[in-house]
Amino acid sequence: MRAVRNVLDRIRRAILSDQSSGVSRLDEAALIQEILAEAEGLAAYTLQRVVNGTGIIVHTNLGRSLLCQEALERLQLIGSGYSNLEYDLEAGSRGSRYVHAEAILREITGAEGALVVNNNAGAVLLVLNTLAQGREVVVSRGELVEIGGSFRIPDVMTRSGARLREVGCTNRTHLEDYRAAIGPETALLLKVHASNYQISGFTAEVDLATLVALGRAHNLPVMDDLGSGCFVDLSRFGLRGEPLVQDSVRSGADVITFSGDKLLGGPQAGIILGRKEIVERLRKSPLTRALRVDKFTLAALEATLRLYRDEETAVRAIPTLRMIAIEVEILATRAQSLADRIRMAVGSGAEVAVVDGASQVGGGALPVQTLPSKLVALTSRRLSAARLEANFRGNQPPIIGRVEQERFLLDVRTLQLGDDEVIVAAAARLLAV
Ligand SMILES: *Cc1c(COP(=O)(O)O)cnc(C)c1O
Repeated sequence: MRAVRNVLDRIRRAILSDQSSGVSRLDEAALIQEILAEAEGLAAYTLQRVVNGTGIIVHTNLGRSLLCQEALERLQLIGSGYSNLEYDLEAGSRGSRYVHAEAILREITGAEGALVVNNNAGAVLLVLNTLAQGREVVVSRGELVEIGGSFRIPDVMTRSGARLREVGCTNRTHLEDYRAAIGPETALLLKVHASNYQISGFTAEVDLATLVALGRAHNLPVMDDLGSGCFVDLSRFGLRGEPLVQDSVRSGADVITFSGDKLLGGPQAGIILGRKEIVERLRKSPLTRALRVDKFTLAALEATLRLYRDEETAVRAIPTLRMIAIEVEILATRAQSLADRIRMAVGSGAEVAVVDGASQVGGGALPVQTLPSKLVALTSRRLSAARLEANFRGNQPPIIGRVEQERFLLDVRTLQLGDDEVIVAAAARLLAV
């Protein structure tokens, strides 16, 4: 009914705004077609599976990290039955949901305590509010980052009730700058991972261990907002400079925050590691209740974290790491096979080529480094590259690629099992002559 009404409304509006074209469109077969399409659209899920051909692995707009098989199995198990989410099986009485990921986090990072909240923005807010409300937090001017989606360090600071004390300059901050800012109002020294930008040229920053030593000397806690939260040294895949969670713990930071669904490759979550007494204070905050995670997050996170007990297992099983690790020779074979299949499907309807390109890690990590990749490039004789992009995006399921030099490009690094079939079918429909 709603589909009929929507279509008739549209036609009525069209007639009112431009009488001639509106009336001539009233042909019965076309009208039925339009109503069927409208009904299909109304019945469709708004949150849908899409094909990511962008080559951006942790794509914030396309759902960030994909869950590993182990996490999906735990979701099925915990979601379909009752669980000991807040039940202490030994005591036979009420327990805490926060124990579930804590043990494994402590085991793999070496931290004294751990707490998981809704996301990293929430984690930062909670820590600042608990440790520094009404007092000052010292941060370098080079680290006052905006992550996107309106997360800005100065704004989160304001919301937490803490006061920002900026030190140094955009490009250079020295230990002396931090030292000079410390006074009776100081509650915390904060280091923030720059995440999505890099300052190069004439630069200086104070490393975490040095900042920790300064904090110790003044009896002040030091916080490290790592952003991405990586457990595996990525330099073996050609990506340099992403700090490891384990190193941050070893440097002695009193509290560390990072995301569960960036480089860690798990569900959306904000992970807080820290000294036992600090984690205890955070747990008691009323904000923790507002930021609390559900059983799905805990189930998927625990399953993902357990894989990190063995680095090779993690790289093989966690999709985010697996996509970073794929060798370019394998991508070349996959791109060639996809290109061949598209060529078969479209005949002379399009030019299909395999080209060199670069994938990005995304998700606020390693902004200026890329991974060499292979892309399938499509050029149509009839349609512009922009039109091709829009048509593939309108496919069911949607296929997201990018346009460069009048070609529609699909990076095979981020394609999943079954995506090739979807792409070939869409190409046949959109491009075959
Ligand atoms: C991404 C990021 C955040 C926000 O994390 P979410 O999980 O998106 O809430 C906070 N701080 C830094 C440095 C980040 O990179």
